[in-house]
Amino acid sequence: MAFEGLTEKLSAAFKRLRGKGRLTEADIREAMREIRMALLEADVSYKVVKDFVARVSERAVGADVLESLTPAQMVVKIVNEELVSLMGGANAKLAVSSRPPTVIMLVGLQGAGKTTNGAKLAGYLKKQNSRRPLLVACDVYRPAAIKQLEVVGGQLGIPVFQMGQGDPVEIAKAAVSHAVQHGNDLVLLDTAGRLHVDEELMAELKNIKSAVRPAEILLVVDAMTGQDAVNAAKAFDDALGIDGVMLTKLDGDARGGAALSVKATTGKPIKFVGTGEKLDSIEPFHPERMASRILG
Ligand code: GDP
Repeated sequence: MAFEGLTEKLSAAFKRLRGKGRLTEADIREAMREIRMALLEADVSYKVVKDFVARVSERAVGADVLESLTPAQMVVKIVNEELVSLMGGANAKLAVSSRPPTVIMLVGLQGAGKTTNGAKLAGYLKKQNSRRPLLVACDVYRPAAIKQLEVVGGQLGIPVFQMGQGDPVEIAKAAVSHAVQHGNDLVLLDTAGRLHVDEELMAELKNIKSAVRPAEILLVVDAMTGQDAVNAAKAFDDALGIDGVMLTKLDGDARGGAALSVKATTGKPIKFVGTGEKLDSIEPFHPERMASRILG
């Protein structure tokens, strides 16, 4: 992650405020204008920026800030708190079924990083939570996708369930039975992706959803696509219903718009982030850590 532009512009705005000592409402207005510009340039969606700046302004022009001895510091604190809240407050955990196996359905557009990050997630949960995952090849349209899942599963020592080019609904059901028989307490379904959200794909995903009732539908989106990632999240949530988002390729995202817009736009939290091509490049998403990084 390298949201340098955003970090630089915000710290420039705060520096100007600090240089002023006591603040007037006009000083705050000028700072808000700078914060608005910085967020828009970071590709945060317009509506999210507008609401964010309105919330910060309302708090910042209060008497306790303007009359405080360290008003600039108080503005920074407000921006920090509002950034944390914008990204969902606390870390949102994955759902766990009371009766194993927990089924997690990974969905997303082609190239978002579903296969790689599904495997990373399986590896993470195996290592950190001592889970016994089963990866399932439900993307039956691209033979290469099945092979790719077997390769990454192999590298992580995680079993991969596949039935070739069969019916993805039947594969998902068979995989859950297989997991029950083999003691896998976690089933991760790698579903098919398309270039765009289309009805046929959504119908297939809905059929898988009703057949296996996943505890969690996790949407994988590419951070580098900025607002397109946010739009994809909205479309998947409207059509299928998602529980959370996995934001991939954060290592290559220079702006940060998706990280800052997803929760506010869809109401669904980012739960994990992908931070590189290696299979251990995955982290749970912590809004407060992200806000600190952004504020530098
Ligand atoms: P899928 O089509 O959604 O299954 O996408 P893949 O899992 O095949 O990933 C597409 C490309 O993105 C691959 O070249 C991955 O190595 C790459 N990729 C996935 N996650 C990350 C990440 O967090 N950072 C970087 N830099 N590359 C990633």
